[in-house]
Amino acid sequence: MTELLELNLNAVKQEIQASALLADRDPGEITLLAVSKTVGAQRVKEMAALGQLNFAENYVQEGVEKIQILQNEVSIHNLIWHFIGPLQSNKTRLVAENFDWVQTIDRLKIAQRLSEQRPRNLKPLQLCIQVNIDAGSTKSGVSPGEALALAKEVMQLPHTVLRGLMTIPDPVQGLDAQMQIHTKARDLFLSLKEQLQNEHFDTLSMGMSADMRAAIGAGTTMLRVGTALFGARKKLT
Ligand SMILES: *Cc1c(COP(=O)(O)O)cnc(C)c1O
Repeated sequence: MTELLELNLNAVKQEIQASALLADRDPGEITLLAVSKTVGAQRVKEMAALGQLNFAENYVQEGVEKIQILQNEVSIHNLIWHFIGPLQSNKTRLVAENFDWVQTIDRLKIAQRLSEQRPRNLKPLQLCIQVNIDAGSTKSGVSPGEALALAKEVMQLPHTVLRGLMTIPDPVQGLDAQMQIHTKARDLFLSLKEQLQNEHFDTLSMGMSADMRAAIGAGTTMLRVGTALFGARKKLT
């Protein structure tokens, strides 16, 4: 199993290298998140042992369980956990206490709760605002026009750091169509960066297994890859 994970990890890294080269970008500025939803703790551990540092989870309970199992592994440390699923108010405390990043901020109230509930002995929680860049079917995320106002408010919170934007466009086929959507997100990101003048605002989280190349071409700084690393998921998500 580890051999397959290693092949997959190397293939994804090679794709990142090749796509970055094509786009005249430094591959070092692109962070790879391994999306481990539905993947058992043992396989996450194997992936971590291959040197993969960043993991992302969609469901609070499932994620917290894995985080706590992996925390007790003496051979594995310094993993960085990203929450990338929808987050309701009654689940914010568990997330604030266990994760390092939350990428699905779409209202101030959730960010406020996360800031209040972040344990003071931990580093501030890193946040991204989720933007519904293509008016997509999930309906999650703020509209592009609402992003700046929310960003300004979130930036004021004491125990969180606003790091950037995250998008989950509906799947589309073809490099050009994918590029078009990702370029829209990139333009919004750069415009906010310009207006906010905040050194921490450096992250554009976009691109998954099926559109890595387009996302890299358009300027992603953080890819969230599940299937290409762990194989097809059994459960529908
Ligand atoms: C599941 C998921 C991913 C990974 O998708 P793959 O197509 O398996 O790479 C990325 N981002 C989010 C928000 C997800 O829910």
